[in-house]
Amino acid sequence: MSKDLLAENVSLRDQLKNLLEQAHRNQQIMRRHQMLDLKFIGANSFTELIGSVFHAFSETSELDTVVLVLLDPDYSIRRILADLHIHLHEFPNLIFLQNESELGDLQIRLHKPVLGRYSEQLFGSVFPEPLPTPASVAVVPLIRNHTLIGCLALGSGQDGRFDGNIATDFLEHQASIVAICIENVINKELLKHIGWTDALTRVNNRRYIEHRLLEEIGRSKRHGYALSCMYIDIDHFKQINDTIGHQGGDEVLREVAGRIKAELRLSDALGRFGGEEFVALLIDAEPVDSSNVAERIRASIAEQPLTLSSGQTLFATVSIGIATLEESDRGNTAEAIAQKLIVSADQALYRAKSGGRNKVVIFDQRQV
Ligand code: GH3
Ligand code: MG
Ligand code: MG
Repeated sequence: MSKDLLAENVSLRDQLKNLLEQAHRNQQIMRRHQMLDLKFIGANSFTELIGSVFHAFSETSELDTVVLVLLDPDYSIRRILADLHIHLHEFPNLIFLQNESELGDLQIRLHKPVLGRYSEQLFGSVFPEPLPTPASVAVVPLIRNHTLIGCLALGSGQDGRFDGNIATDFLEHQASIVAICIENVINKELLKHIGWTDALTRVNNRRYIEHRLLEEIGRSKRHGYALSCMYIDIDHFKQINDTIGHQGGDEVLREVAGRIKAELRLSDALGRFGGEEFVALLIDAEPVDSSNVAERIRASIAEQPLTLSSGQTLFATVSIGIATLEESDRGNTAEAIAQKLIVSADQALYRAKSGGRNKVVIFDQRQV
């Protein structure tokens, strides 16, 4: 073989080796991105999806800051998340905007990905303080049904990472997956919210309380804090219905639910258990704390007349039974503890009724 031919052969072999290595690297990148897609698609809740977007995304794509911006003009997303006790302050990289104009200079360019070195003027709206300022940025629009629903802002500490000339197919592909998954989990959360809400009073329903009680018992066991359950029943409600009619009775239910809720903390839970009965779960509340809250609820209903939409006013009262998770219960299953708590609160309620109504009674084992 001539010298030239040999040199060419070696050079071709080198090129082939480089190409194979490149193909291997691309395959690995593709696999990493596919894994990410599957993770997004598999997310069952908003929190899970957001977690994947922030953590998996920044690790797989080696990014320093990932920000998710969602347009929420009528607060509907935030309201559902708040009702589901998803605390938005736990996600500093999740930004809600009222409308597109809050994107500033980005707005008119966001029909496709916008890449380049960071500038406050262009990217300030998607990397607001106290988020770290990146060196280079890619902002990818999230579009569903031809409508901008938000954007994904990816920040890198490296100057040239998002050069205006790089191909954006991968980013656009991932953004379209993220957009579909966001819509999907929001719809899922909405369904959950509807399934857990009492249509008449807008507080939670029995299903939610039973689900939440099991969760709170687990949490209380792990962290060792007190958990109280309050059973609240409107006194002589049948008589109220007979006097003002069923519609008026419904209004009373709504007003009473509102007054109970006003005395609870955001972390507590309130559900309509059925008819004119409500159950409240008080988190981290010893018997003395819950009895104070119950007394405030009782007074807030008994001392202020209820005004109906007809202008008619009336007085109503409630009786309340309270039970608190006992140290000796902790060895039992969550289901057994939940049942015992509800039954005990109901027994205390029974004593409040037989003791004259408009009363608060704490469950006492000795009086069963
Ligand atoms: P007590 O003081 O012992 O609790 O007496 P009560 O009359 O409140 O209790 P009772 O269980 O006898 O009556 C409950 C009433 O609640 C009977 C039922 O018609 C009424 N009720 C149940 N669900 C609804 C509802 O959704 N709307 C209205 N308006 N009334 C309801
Ligand atoms: Mg009742
Ligand atoms: Mg009643």
